[in-house]
Amino acid sequence: MNLKIYNSLSGEKEIFTPIHEKSVGMYVCGPTVYSNVHLGNVRTFMSFDFIYRTLMHLGYKVRYVRNITDAGHLTDDGDVDNDRFVKQSRLEKLEPMEIVQKYTVDFHKVLEVFNLLPPTIEPTATGHILEQIELTQKLLDKGFAYERNGSVYFDVLEYNRRGLNYGELSRRNIEELFANTRDLDGQSEKKNPQDFALWKAASPAHIMRWNSPWGEGFPGWHLECTAMSTKYLGERFDIHGGGMDLKFPHHECEVAQGKACNGVEPVNYWMHANMLTMNGQRMSKSTGNYILPMELVSGSNDFFEKAFHPTIVRFNFMQAHYRSVLDISNEAMIASEKGFQRLMEALKVLSNTTFSSAEVSSFDVEAWKAKCYAALTDDFNSPILIAHLFEAANFIFKLKEGKESISTQDLEELKTLLNSFIFDVLGLQNIEENNNEKLDQTLQVLIELRNQARKAKNFDLSDQIRDRLLAEGIELKDGRDGTTYSIS
Ligand code: AMP
Ligand code: ZN
Repeated sequence: MNLKIYNSLSGEKEIFTPIHEKSVGMYVCGPTVYSNVHLGNVRTFMSFDFIYRTLMHLGYKVRYVRNITDAGHLTDDGDVDNDRFVKQSRLEKLEPMEIVQKYTVDFHKVLEVFNLLPPTIEPTATGHILEQIELTQKLLDKGFAYERNGSVYFDVLEYNRRGLNYGELSRRNIEELFANTRDLDGQSEKKNPQDFALWKAASPAHIMRWNSPWGEGFPGWHLECTAMSTKYLGERFDIHGGGMDLKFPHHECEVAQGKACNGVEPVNYWMHANMLTMNGQRMSKSTGNYILPMELVSGSNDFFEKAFHPTIVRFNFMQAHYRSVLDISNEAMIASEKGFQRLMEALKVLSNTTFSSAEVSSFDVEAWKAKCYAALTDDFNSPILIAHLFEAANFIFKLKEGKESISTQDLEELKTLLNSFIFDVLGLQNIEENNNEKLDQTLQVLIELRNQARKAKNFDLSDQIRDRLLAEGIELKDGRDGTTYSIS
């Protein structure tokens, strides 16, 4: 079956042909680790986690590179002497690299909570300063860049003079771009306002700085992704992803850098994930319209009525296509919770009930399977896949009521497929099973504490643990091989 991907570069759904058969090189822009990721950021990373899982499920070997931006990201206020890390480090009275470490750890924890798989390579911008200096030099040597007072800029007009078409990804016309941006104070050292920094000279106050042929400075943000994607995936690779808001200027600049350096389109398929909104407005830290992932999961927020398990959040996100805007709301979360419980209930029926095998069935498992794969391979259409899962769940409930029948072989096939779509591909988790595991771990801790109390002859405490557990319906039994428990 052909996999179709919507390619932002062509604006069309295209049949996916990887450069190397059965292998995929995928690069996704990672977080700027100067503060906690908000739920919107999580949606984009989850969209690509689902895409990654689907590619693997379809049999591709995927090299998945997602970077950590830990340098060179200038603040929105245009203060060129100040990057986000330096600004935040002043606020929190920490070293910039302490800021980086703190929020990288937080990012990993959050993604683990939502069951995202780690990428296969997670390079950092600061770990690739040398590569960025080399790229800058290459662009200077080829005449695509110029130096001004220790900073190096990409020359957009020169790029276009050579027929390379700046604006091809975001479909922006260079003349319009020039007409719409003026150098307001006339003070800029750039030749043109559209030129972007490859390397910035550091002012004396700038802490994050490295030596370069142009003096001490730091790399421009767009350059790091070109440096790291080229290093790990090659001058031309299969898929590049990121949020829609990165298409311009970030990804446009990546295209320009790649083409100027190597003379080829760097990316075959550009994929852009759409935004998460709240109150109909894009979630963003700068406007204050955001919720932190752990606030939603713990329930400590003013927006949602109750706490939601991370897998319910994931299910809610998966119910929208990655290219659609998704507005998060209390009602939608409640509906997702109900829907997810229904799917889990159907799985439970499948594993706990024995059905007598029948040759005739109104449910054609092979046809259903084909529909599920058609959804997955039609530009990763998770909402349609989920609609098919509900169709299967409805059949399973009818089966339970004796209103339907199925052969043993088809039943096994249905079970296997449902499990792999729900858990492997959509990345959902069985809350009940997880809770059982947690309960077991907690009881083992209590048994251990009781044993310690007994050893210390603190029988008051050991008896208290036993009796209070018993009151909760959990009986501890001491045997030759240790203590076990049973739950009534
Ligand atoms: P940043 O750390 O700002 O570079 O953002 C990390 C990722 O989150 C990028 O791919 C952004 O496009 C994405 N992103 C930012 N805001 C949202 C949002 N409201 N919804 C979905 N993705 C977002
Ligand atoms: Zn990037």
